[in-house]
Amino acid sequence: MSSTQHNEAAVLAQLGFNPAHCLIDGQWSPPVSGETLPLYNPSTGQRLTSIARGTAVDIDRAVNAATHAFESVWARTPAFERGRIITDIGRRVLDHIEHLALLESLDVGKPLAQARADAVALARYCEFYGGAADKVHGDTIPYLDGYTVYGIREPHGVTGHIVPWNYPMQIIGRSVGAALAMGNTCVLKPAEDACLTALAFADICLAAGLPDGVLNVVPGTGAEAGAALSQHAGIQHISFTGSVPTGAAVQAAAAKNVVPVTLELGGKSPQLVFEDADIESALPFLVNAGIQNAGQTCSASSRLLVQRSLLNTLVPQLAERYRQLRVGPALDDLSVGPLISANQKSRVERFLKEADDLECLARGQCVDNVPTDGFYVVPALYLCEDPSHTLAQAEVFGPVQVVIPFDTEQDAIDIANGTEYGLVAAVWTQNGSRQMRLARDLKAGQVFVNNYGAGGGVELPFGGVGKSGHGREKGFEALYGFSQLKTVAVKYS
Ligand code: NAD
Repeated sequence: MSSTQHNEAAVLAQLGFNPAHCLIDGQWSPPVSGETLPLYNPSTGQRLTSIARGTAVDIDRAVNAATHAFESVWARTPAFERGRIITDIGRRVLDHIEHLALLESLDVGKPLAQARADAVALARYCEFYGGAADKVHGDTIPYLDGYTVYGIREPHGVTGHIVPWNYPMQIIGRSVGAALAMGNTCVLKPAEDACLTALAFADICLAAGLPDGVLNVVPGTGAEAGAALSQHAGIQHISFTGSVPTGAAVQAAAAKNVVPVTLELGGKSPQLVFEDADIESALPFLVNAGIQNAGQTCSASSRLLVQRSLLNTLVPQLAERYRQLRVGPALDDLSVGPLISANQKSRVERFLKEADDLECLARGQCVDNVPTDGFYVVPALYLCEDPSHTLAQAEVFGPVQVVIPFDTEQDAIDIANGTEYGLVAAVWTQNGSRQMRLARDLKAGQVFVNNYGAGGGVELPFGGVGKSGHGREKGFEALYGFSQLKTVAVKYS
């Protein structure tokens, strides 16, 4: 038995439930069909374990359980009590950081340090939304004489959460955490490619005393479990993170039930580097923001817009950083792990074929003895003079960045805003007025000045414009999204 297989067995043995089960109404049980789906370890390309192949009938059971839990328990639980349970879930997540990180590394192929950071972020979401649960206050509205008018923030009811494979823990923390805090119950459909930490998180929630049916988890394919969830008439809000076509399909299905949807659909996020930038500070962010999680990050910085006068000095430094990137198995904890699946690998390789006409400035390299069946793609940095090139427009979702030269500030803005996306953007300049102008003019849900990502703060509202989606998650803002306002007008004499 190889050391990787040994690690897998030990990590899976620590699960207190069968990973081929769903969690519905507080009980672990197989899907009604009894069928399973294979889950692969991206580092080896070998089967890791099996998960439930939930279908419409399991989604239906989960929505019924969530409806009952909403009406009988969760909506009536005082906000401070909900907050106390969510905070306790966060404390228990902290107690399980290492196990959660190992699970995520094996399942997603994420280098261990990045998986640990995701587990810590999950705990932070629980702490933040646990603390916020009893701090959402309504307003009183000055109105006609003889009236008192006030607003009450009420939960939607049963919320659906369709989660991708790239950051399961972070995305579950931000959407389920906020939904629960506002008194909603949840049906969670994790991605078929990576769902172990979703199940482990649900188990932690049970241990923390979250009442039965408040969080239900039904793994399965998008076409079966995902579609069934997005069109279920018992769902009152859907939070979706993933691709543009699937997001549009989820929104269309929800529209039939006139249900609000939050969509977070990725991007082609730029970093704009001006000639007056502090290059030493910028350099690590310029590369890391593109290759973190092997580039499979919705807010990955896949475009580096560099002022032409800087090209001769900055490009060699970027190239040198690329040459130092090492790719290998997730548990080896290198800078870059494998992609999630054979499908994603072929998809990225197709994009790289389209880059044949571009100058490749540098590549990273695989470590020796990298498992031959793993889903590895070596990071690559390209020079791209044409901002309309496929590699400068499409969300590749792999460890690939393009350097796009620009001349003037207006050119930089036009190029930055010249894709169908608008998730995040960063500006590197020491000119204060330019910082303010660009913060105003860049089309993005978040703009970073002289940093990228701001450490991922759970407090910071996050979401896109254009095809990056709509609605905001994270921070206090998410609590408004996971609730609706009732206006009460009282007439007195
Ligand atoms: P996807 O959008 O198809 O899958 C995301 C989630 O949606 C998964 O849980 C999936 O099971 C579910 N799903 C799929 N079809 C569904 C349907 N018809 N109804 C309801 N739910 C459905 O993404 P993918 O196929 O895993 O990846 C393809 C591309 O999407 C990637 O290459 C990348 O460009 C993009 N992506 C973006 C993000 C992001 O964070 N924004 C995450 C994952 C993938």
